[in-house]
Amino acid sequence: AAKEAGKHTYRVFLPEMNQKVAKYIWLDTELRKAIDEKQFILFYQPLINLCTGRLHSVEALIRWRSNSRGLVAPGEFIRFTEESGLIIPIGRWLMQEAAWQAARWHESGLNIRISINISARQLRDTAIVNQLRELVEQSGTARTLIDIELTESSFIEDEKAAIELMRQFKQMGARILLDDFGTGYSSLSQLTRLPIDVIKLDRSFITGIDQNFQAQSLVRSVLGLARAFGFTVVAEGVETEREVQFLKDIGVDYAQGFFYARPMAAEAFEAWLDDKKKLRLIA
Ligand code: C2E
Ligand code: MG
Ligand code: MG
Ligand code: MG
Repeated sequence: AAKEAGKHTYRVFLPEMNQKVAKYIWLDTELRKAIDEKQFILFYQPLINLCTGRLHSVEALIRWRSNSRGLVAPGEFIRFTEESGLIIPIGRWLMQEAAWQAARWHESGLNIRISINISARQLRDTAIVNQLRELVEQSGTARTLIDIELTESSFIEDEKAAIELMRQFKQMGARILLDDFGTGYSSLSQLTRLPIDVIKLDRSFITGIDQNFQAQSLVRSVLGLARAFGFTVVAEGVETEREVQFLKDIGVDYAQGFFYARPMAAEAFEAWLDDKKKLRLIA
């Protein structure tokens, strides 16, 4: 096709392709090494109960400590690992790490639930539920403190299979959160047939909501429907006090965002929690 398009295209197209392929090969090699050498780390970002101002849970967000590139955000490698299948071993490490962290906190008297992000590709591997169950058992906590964040894309391929896996996760005590709601195509009424507990409103609706009437009425109506259907609602990406005040006023249950805290390594999160306790912001 490049040849048909003429000499000029051929010359421009090929080096670009090579560059992309080279980048993929490099990434693949580096990520395999990263798995072997355990270069990943989980950061934790608090979810706050808007009614009480207290900590509700944390979301685990992966980071890659690359030798050459420093701390790499998931946006730069997760999609690639989904395509190459590397998300399977990475996801396994992640479940183990989260289960271990929840057990450590539990031992030290902190009852903190951790939600982990699971991509559609990972749900194709139905062994995932048993893996999590075993990892939780090995970590030493009796019941799971792990919740699951999924996006709508998880249901597109094989809805029946995805629902069955969610039921199994729920049987072991996990809650199901629907991530990035509003960016996909489903309406809330379509979601009632899925065993979901919590809806996370995407950041794109929350940013500047105190000044955006359209976003306000949208979030109000989503909230009304969510109430009718029995879903809990979380607002993601709150950055200002005004956004928080608006969300609180209309009755959104929980909020998460830089206004409260950025995602942090476990020790930094513990220090953050200590500070809050001292300030009596969180009991
Ligand atoms: P997400 O699950 O929707 O996570 C929320 C993202 O929003 C995080 O980005 C978080 O740092 C960011 N965020 C939180 N509060 C604010 C805020 O107030 N303002 C702004 N501007 N951003 C905020 P992060 O950590 O870069 O993660 C990006 C995405 O990568 C996640 O979106 C999730 O889809 C994916 N991801 C992260 N960790 C994992 C993982 O362990 N496994 C899988 N499969 N995906 C992951
Ligand atoms: Mg998430
Ligand atoms: Mg999210
Ligand atoms: Mg999001």
